[in-house]
Amino acid sequence: MQTLRITGGQVLRPDGTVETADVLVDSDEGTILDIAADVDADADETLDADGCLVMPGLVNAHCHVPMTLLRGHADDKQLDAWLQEDIWPAEAELTPEDVRAGAELGLVEMIKSGTTAFADMYFHVPDVVAAIDEAGLRARVGHGVVTIGKDDDDAWDDIDESLDVAREFDGAADGRVRTAVMPHSLTTVGEEYLREVTADAHDDGIPVHYHANETTNEVDPIVDERDERPLEYARDLGMVTDDDFVAHGVHLDDEEISILADAGTGVVHCPASNMKLASGMAPVQQMLDAGVAVGLGTDGAASNNDLDMFDEMRDAAMLGKLAADDASAVAAPDVVQMATAGSADAIGLPGGTLEVGGVADIAVVDFDAPHLTPATNLVSHLVYAARGSDVRHTVCDGEILMRDREVLTLDESAVVARAREAATSLFERV
Ligand SMILES: [Zn+2]
Repeated sequence: MQTLRITGGQVLRPDGTVETADVLVDSDEGTILDIAADVDADADETLDADGCLVMPGLVNAHCHVPMTLLRGHADDKQLDAWLQEDIWPAEAELTPEDVRAGAELGLVEMIKSGTTAFADMYFHVPDVVAAIDEAGLRARVGHGVVTIGKDDDDAWDDIDESLDVAREFDGAADGRVRTAVMPHSLTTVGEEYLREVTADAHDDGIPVHYHANETTNEVDPIVDERDERPLEYARDLGMVTDDDFVAHGVHLDDEEISILADAGTGVVHCPASNMKLASGMAPVQQMLDAGVAVGLGTDGAASNNDLDMFDEMRDAAMLGKLAADDASAVAAPDVVQMATAGSADAIGLPGGTLEVGGVADIAVVDFDAPHLTPATNLVSHLVYAARGSDVRHTVCDGEILMRDREVLTLDESAVVARAREAATSLFERV
């Protein structure tokens, strides 16, 4: 058995407390063997955590990771115009090689900011999976389906691809990759397609992930046409179960919050994207109070514009207070929980806590920095003062992905160069 010892740090426990301890990892099994002050000193590998907080790797519960190539392509526009005029035309030109290059860039960014798991909706998914396999992260991936503007044959082809990809890649990358079917949203995919893809996926034990109630433009047409709220419609289609999870949930009424809480359907809050696209303020404290499984995600880099979950935690705390008109709402410990265990729970992946027997998905955050001094309340600092660049080591499934800021699984400079070339060529074509 190969072992890894993370030594000299303080450890964030599942109850939110912090204690001085070492963490011993079974690198072969990818699990935590021990968390204690005096663990086995003869580990095969050691990571120094002196002056650091050892915490669960962050879980980015909603992303479109290859969109890193579109970072800065179009800003300062409403969601509908932004998608139709800028994003979709550029995406139509993306080759599988572009998607691979963009995914690798995003994965390097995630590793460097302490993210160890994520959920991803995109296309050319085999190329995304290949990048994840190489990078060493954990993910739930799916092929995003859009049927509006397509004839029936093309629409069914898109549905079939989402199911095929979900069946083929579930368990890929030594089990680190799980899948979902991912219809884009309740307004961009037609009713018969949603009903069919959901039934087929659930028959095979595959969850469904989609954007829901992101803007009023997504809510109003459903209310006008069907005289019911979007999540009532989704429930009728069978898309609101314990395994399913939605992104955004900005414009929810009380009944919809109850529907989500009763079903155990996860909601992934994406505060930066919601602010940048002026989509609105999600009722996060209300959802937490109702018992909804709330996770945290960056959304794609074109609407954020980075994949740094520390930024996202800060945004979630700030926006949650504004939305509730209450400075005590969406407090720091709740935000850390949302970005770790809450996200893992919402997307149905292991991780999000550091526990003996649990998976060894770990971020080691260096608190020896002026902007983190005095280090009196580490959980507060994680949300309000720390940055992704404060992460010193990243471990996923027991493997060291980054040691002392050096990414070990991907060649960072080559990845950045390939992404730069791919983006330059893409925008010459668009
Ligand atoms: Zn999204």
